[in-house]
Amino acid sequence: MFDKILIANRGEIALRVIRACKEMGIATVAVHSEADRHAMHVHLADESVCIGPPAASKSYLNIPSIIAAAEITGAQAIHPGYGFLSENARFAEIVGAHGMTFIGPKPDHIRLMGDKITAKQASKDSGIPVVPGSDGGVATVEEAIAAAEHIGFPLIIKAAAGGGGRGMKVAKDRDSLAEAVMSAQSEAAAAFGDGTVYMERYLQKPRHIEIQVIADSHGNVVHLGERDCSLQRRHQKVLEEAPSPIIDAKARDKIGKIVVEAMQKIGYLGVGTIEFLFEDGEFFFIEMNTRLQVEHPVTEFVTGVDLVREQIRIAAGLPLSFTQDDITIKGHSIEVRVNAENARTFLPSPGTITDYHAPGGLGVRMDSAIYNGYAIPPYYDSMVGKLIVHGRDRPEALARLKRALSEIVVAGIDTTIPLFVDLLNEKDIQSGDYNIHWLENWIKAQDQGA
Ligand code: ADP
Repeated sequence: MFDKILIANRGEIALRVIRACKEMGIATVAVHSEADRHAMHVHLADESVCIGPPAASKSYLNIPSIIAAAEITGAQAIHPGYGFLSENARFAEIVGAHGMTFIGPKPDHIRLMGDKITAKQASKDSGIPVVPGSDGGVATVEEAIAAAEHIGFPLIIKAAAGGGGRGMKVAKDRDSLAEAVMSAQSEAAAAFGDGTVYMERYLQKPRHIEIQVIADSHGNVVHLGERDCSLQRRHQKVLEEAPSPIIDAKARDKIGKIVVEAMQKIGYLGVGTIEFLFEDGEFFFIEMNTRLQVEHPVTEFVTGVDLVREQIRIAAGLPLSFTQDDITIKGHSIEVRVNAENARTFLPSPGTITDYHAPGGLGVRMDSAIYNGYAIPPYYDSMVGKLIVHGRDRPEALARLKRALSEIVVAGIDTTIPLFVDLLNEKDIQSGDYNIHWLENWIKAQDQGA
């Protein structure tokens, strides 16, 4: 096992990794930008190194600085968290080339799944059902028209290098296709430095269901059930739950087996999430994330598995500490993302937290790096915390979430907490009857009513 791990991240996820390390008796090194000198992850780690100015490109994405910090402190492994360098295959290779361990998948798999076109092809080849769409990328409007013939309308044009819900355009009919393809291409080129796009059938009322997998270096692959992340704004997750209100044990076992076999086929290592759209009883692959996900705590609550601990054990060459038969889904868990944003306008709201009280009690977990008097820097993601609850069943989890939301205090900035208070009063949320478009429609209706 490692003696010392460097965490190449900030915020709540850096805390999450530090906590796992502490419980495992592993020393921790935090890295931070000049703007994060007083951040909680710096306080909680055993050592810290400043790696550059506030801009992420000069600090949390600065590979030479991070490698130097690891070498100076004698860290044997680097945990990338999510975001930043977590899906950067070159970074994973560089860490290895410096004689350290990257806590994550093999660089080849990061690369394969990082390009959505190769990811989709590889998944299809290993038996995973995919959304019907173009055969690879579409370079010209003529190619798009030809592909649209067999995909049909409406269709969605997506960036091969896409992420974070950006670079997607829907074309309702043939007349709007050329314009949609061109604007998707230029948006993708500007956002990701790669204008390659591909096309898929646009599903009308799907749910976003994703399967958590974990694989060790001894050939063991286990799935940990699904998460339902259908509540989205601008294709970004807002609330996640496990299990999904609409997936039964039979459907879970079926898709779980398919995914496990596919991961065995490609020789996957570490944690990963296979994302699907689910409509009319059918699963359609959209992408795979080769890292820990923001919403991993709901899976931890219902399975009892500490995913970060397992990640570290796997990276150290140890076998999984459980088998598929050991995994049962117990109760129900819900996570809400607390963003420093206005709950009505969704405008970012950085600033100083003048009062903070975290909710607690049975089945409540608050993963956040904020504290009383903390000044949220304007340079990074607006998510400042995750409130996760667990109950014996979905109604109990909902009641617990409502109770926890009534306790939490985050003063001095705007947050998305009032949004969740309102959502919990909605019948569809209470019954679990929502798809990926539900929240956008609800927000529109609220704005019109205002
Ligand atoms: P990103 O990597 O940017 O998150 P994804 O491919 O994971 O992009 O898609 C994000 C979200 O966009 C999905 O959860 C879903 O809401 C929507 N989406 C993606 N593909 C389709 C599709 N073919 N039909 C309908 N909605 C889609």
